[in-house]
Amino acid sequence: NKRKLIVGNWKMNGSLAANESLVRELLAGIGQPRCEVAVCPPGIYLAQLQALLAGSPIELGVQNVSTHEVGAFTGDVSAEMLKDFGVRYAIVGHSERRQHQAESDVHVAIKAKRALAAGITPIVCVGETLREREEGMTDFIVKRQLAAVIHLNGHCSSEIVVAYEPVWAIGTGQTATPEQAQQVHAVLRAQLKGVTEHADRVRILYGGSMNAANAAELLAQPDIDGGLIGGASLKAADFLKIVGAAA
Ligand code: 13P
Repeated sequence: NKRKLIVGNWKMNGSLAANESLVRELLAGIGQPRCEVAVCPPGIYLAQLQALLAGSPIELGVQNVSTHEVGAFTGDVSAEMLKDFGVRYAIVGHSERRQHQAESDVHVAIKAKRALAAGITPIVCVGETLREREEGMTDFIVKRQLAAVIHLNGHCSSEIVVAYEPVWAIGTGQTATPEQAQQVHAVLRAQLKGVTEHADRVRILYGGSMNAANAAELLAQPDIDGGLIGGASLKAADFLKIVGAAA
């Protein structure tokens, strides 16, 4: 039986001092979690986080990875370099990067491939905008986004984590209802079943204003296997409550 996975996406927040106090609070309160837990700091802090988390139950993730392997790609950081710092998970295709860095489905698929090749589990983010939902396009959009990753990664598709993050729910305090989220998760699960016999093993996380108050209800849905947490992952008490809600 797969364990749930709770991932904190710190986005572009933190400092040496703030990271240290957040991690110390997390480690003081986490005990022996029943789920898997990871945090994704800004990449510049990987060495600090690797040291702080050594020997702890919290694993290290990142928010992005290069589409390239090595060479003349100014500003990029490769999957192999991330592996050097003990990185276990890499978020790819977050809607903020799709929007602000013009990442296409194909970029996201290549990033997932680079991560897998380095032994890093990609957390592939998919999700519709409010306009797309209102137009009845939700299933079409998330399936298109996931299809690109499946197409490039073939049988490795069972090795990924998927995160459903409706864009209208990110940072807005407006969470998808458990029913809305479950419906989309079931669509994604069915899509995975079409390409791998191990689809039930794939963790499909929900993200978008998940917090200490709504986590339990979301995580109780049959196809919600964890959470990708933004704002609430920056407060130790809130993040720990979400971890506690993930049986
Ligand atoms: P919030 O939890 O702040 O809505 O962010 C969700 C998210 O984008 C996680 O990747």
